[in-house]
Amino acid sequence: MTPEALRARLLAWYDANARDLPWRVGPAAHRAGVRADPYRVWLSEVMLQQTTVPHAAPYFLKFTARWPTVSDLAAEDDAEVMAAWAGLGYYARARNLLACARAVAKDYGGVFPDTEDGLRALPGLGPYTAAAVAAIAFDRSANVVDGNVERVIARLFAVEAPLPDVKPELKSLAAGLVRDERPGDWAQALMDLGATVCRPKGPLCDRCPVAEFCAGLATGEPDAYPRRVAKAPRPHRHGVAYILTRGSEVALVRRPPKGLLGGMLALPTTDWRGMGWTDEEARAAAPAAADWRPVGEVEHGFTHFTLTLRLLRAEGEAEGLIWTPRSGLDALPSVFLKAARAGLTNLL
Ligand code: SF4
Repeated sequence: MTPEALRARLLAWYDANARDLPWRVGPAAHRAGVRADPYRVWLSEVMLQQTTVPHAAPYFLKFTARWPTVSDLAAEDDAEVMAAWAGLGYYARARNLLACARAVAKDYGGVFPDTEDGLRALPGLGPYTAAAVAAIAFDRSANVVDGNVERVIARLFAVEAPLPDVKPELKSLAAGLVRDERPGDWAQALMDLGATVCRPKGPLCDRCPVAEFCAGLATGEPDAYPRRVAKAPRPHRHGVAYILTRGSEVALVRRPPKGLLGGMLALPTTDWRGMGWTDEEARAAAPAAADWRPVGEVEHGFTHFTLTLRLLRAEGEAEGLIWTPRSGLDALPSVFLKAARAGLTNLL
C-alpha cells in the first residue's frame, strides 16, 4: 500500500459520493474553478464542532440568510447573535464567533486571511478550524484532523495506543497523507468517509473505498479502534428552576456574562450542586414570595456533568425580571427551554 494509492482511491470515491452540504462547493464545481466562501466554511466548521450536520444545517441557513457576510455578522448586536445561536449549545463558541467576525471586519477589511497561520492569529479561531478553512476555502495543504478523522486514521493504521494521549500520533499519521494536490477535497473526503462509511459504531467496511488498505479491518475488529482509556463518569448535579408566570408571560433572567451559558436568557435557578435541594431550601431561594408548587423535573446532559432540575411554578410578580411572552421562550438555551416547556405543560 502506498499513500498515493490510498489517496487516489479515496479522492475518486469523493468525486462520486461527496455529500451535498449547504456550505460546500462540490468536487465537480471545485474542478471548474468555483471556490468556497471562507465565511461559510468557517461558520459551518464552528457549528459542526458541537453538533451534527442535520442539526447544524438549518442554523447555517438561518445565519447566512440573515448575515450574508462576515461584516454583517460583525455589525450585529451580541444579544441577537446569541439568541440565534440558542439550541446549538456551547455559548462560549458564539462569543468567540463574534470576536472573530469583528476582528476580520475591523482588522482585515472583512476578508479572511488566506493562510493557516494567518487564520490562527484570529481571536477564538482554534487550530482545527484554521486548518479546515485554509484547506477548504484556500486550498492550502493543511492537516485537518477532528474526532472523525482521528477515528478513520486509528482504524486505517490499527493504532493500538489509546486516546487521548495518542492524538499527536494520529495527527502525524494523517499529515503523512496530505499533499499539495487537492487539499480541500482531501480534507472533505476524509470527513465524508468518517461521517457516512467509517461511522463510530458499525463501520460499513464492505462499502469502504479504502478497505483493502485498512489494517483495522484486517484485525477483524475495526470498531475496536480508536482505543480509549476508560472514562470517569460525569458528575451529577442538582438544581431548582422557577417558572414564575404573570398571565401569559414568564419571568426570565439574563445570566452573568462569564461562566456556563454566560450572557444567555434563562429561567431563574438556584446553583447547581452535588447535593439535592430540600423543599425549604428551594422555596427560600425562589425569585419571589409566591405559592410555589412542584411541577416535575427535567434531566439534561452537559459536556462535563449531568443535571437534574426540579421545577417549581407559581403565579406572581417581582422586580428585576424579564417578562417574556410564551412565544419568546424559543430563544432559551436547551436546558431552560426543556424546563420551561415541562413546567408550563405539567399540571399544578
Ligand atoms: Fe473504516 Fe472499515 Fe474503511 Fe477501515 S475498512 S477505514 S474501518 S470503514
